[in-house]
Amino acid sequence: MNILDSTKLAILGGKPIRTRPYPKHTTQLGDEEKREVIATLDDGELSGFSGWSGPRFLGGARVRQLEADLCVFFGVQYAVTFNSATSALHASLVAAGIGPGDEVIVSPYSMVASATCVLMCNAIPVFADVEPDMFCLDPASVEMNITAQTRAILTVNLFGQPSNLASLSRLADQYNLVLIEDNAQSPGSQYGSMLAGTVGEMGVLSFNYHKAIQCGEGGAIITNSDELADRCRLVRNHGEACVVDMGRGEMECQLGFNYRLTELQAAVAIPQLRKLNSLTAKRQELASILENGLNAFPFLRPPIVRNECTHVYYVYGMRYIESVLGVSRDIFFKALAAEGVSVGQGYVKPLYLLPIFQKRLPYTKGCPYTCGHYSGEVSYAEGICPNVEMLYSRELLTTEICRYPNNQDDMREFVLAVEKISDQSNSLKSLA
Ligand SMILES: *Cc1c(COP(=O)(O)O)cnc(C)c1O
Repeated sequence: MNILDSTKLAILGGKPIRTRPYPKHTTQLGDEEKREVIATLDDGELSGFSGWSGPRFLGGARVRQLEADLCVFFGVQYAVTFNSATSALHASLVAAGIGPGDEVIVSPYSMVASATCVLMCNAIPVFADVEPDMFCLDPASVEMNITAQTRAILTVNLFGQPSNLASLSRLADQYNLVLIEDNAQSPGSQYGSMLAGTVGEMGVLSFNYHKAIQCGEGGAIITNSDELADRCRLVRNHGEACVVDMGRGEMECQLGFNYRLTELQAAVAIPQLRKLNSLTAKRQELASILENGLNAFPFLRPPIVRNECTHVYYVYGMRYIESVLGVSRDIFFKALAAEGVSVGQGYVKPLYLLPIFQKRLPYTKGCPYTCGHYSGEVSYAEGICPNVEMLYSRELLTTEICRYPNNQDDMREFVLAVEKISDQSNSLKSLA
């Protein structure tokens, strides 16, 4: 191979900085998880739930252990596990009493379930814009979107850091709304002296394979409200069928589903939760190495951490400023990807631009939009959230390398790839 090859940009035919694949996201499953799973199999009772009232209404020993551990970790009174964060999001809205005719303010910059859970309640998701620098719901935009129909704010603690929860809580108090935190991406991040997920009336967690800790699929709601916790438990376990026996008259019409977590999943999640703090520390250490390296490049802005908060770097989100380097984000992204480092651009399309919202057809016959209970008017037009559209189409670059088992060398390679492109950006200007 020509000696020049390693200096030439990989996108132009040179040798990439990195040729090794990244380790699979096996999320540090180890002997502890194996032991718990074997013990569960030996017990043979793979789900401890029953639909009748009584102790088994609350699930098996491991599900209850996981919930107790979550309460200790987050410093909350109640944790209710679910078979996914998507189920938990739906249950949180049902527990909050959201239904036909109601609007819920959501973020357009998230995994789709953060908005479609509202449709699952036959209610209307209303998208507010995000902050241009921290990517979470912008309280000013939330306030502008509050109407007589608004019942809740569902904010997403995106990429690993909390939303502006003080301002959102103030709005919720002022307008008598329920504040729910989708905290699937940010367990363990601090909001002042509190943990993200515990500031709103309910916080939602995910334990799916990709998240900070995982058991394949799983989720939870954390809350300090006994009534909300009870409602969540009912939604998780077929609802009204058992309420009559439980003497909870006022909940006797609670519609429910089967959102129950199995003992096997809880067996994996219990030791995973014990590892969360050390895994978070690893993410933060790697992110700080990456940031030190990236600070040399004025066209790439590392994540900004909110005052008195911590970031747990589920996703490392950077803003790319095209005018500084004079290369489009698309070309920069392709050049970086060609160097073999992990990179993504744009995150997700602003959710309101997806067909389900553009066509307003989550159900047949136009519900919930044309439903007789809905008297509002929601817009999903392009342009309603300029910040998220700008981040999606022009500025955001992401990487997910700040996590175990990656190490300093993986961070240095990313920085080297950026440096190489920066040094030779002129050679990219010929690419369209
Ligand atoms: C992953 C994720 C979800 C969905 O989690 P599941 O457990 O897969 O249902 C919801 N919201 C956000 C912000 C997520 O990142």
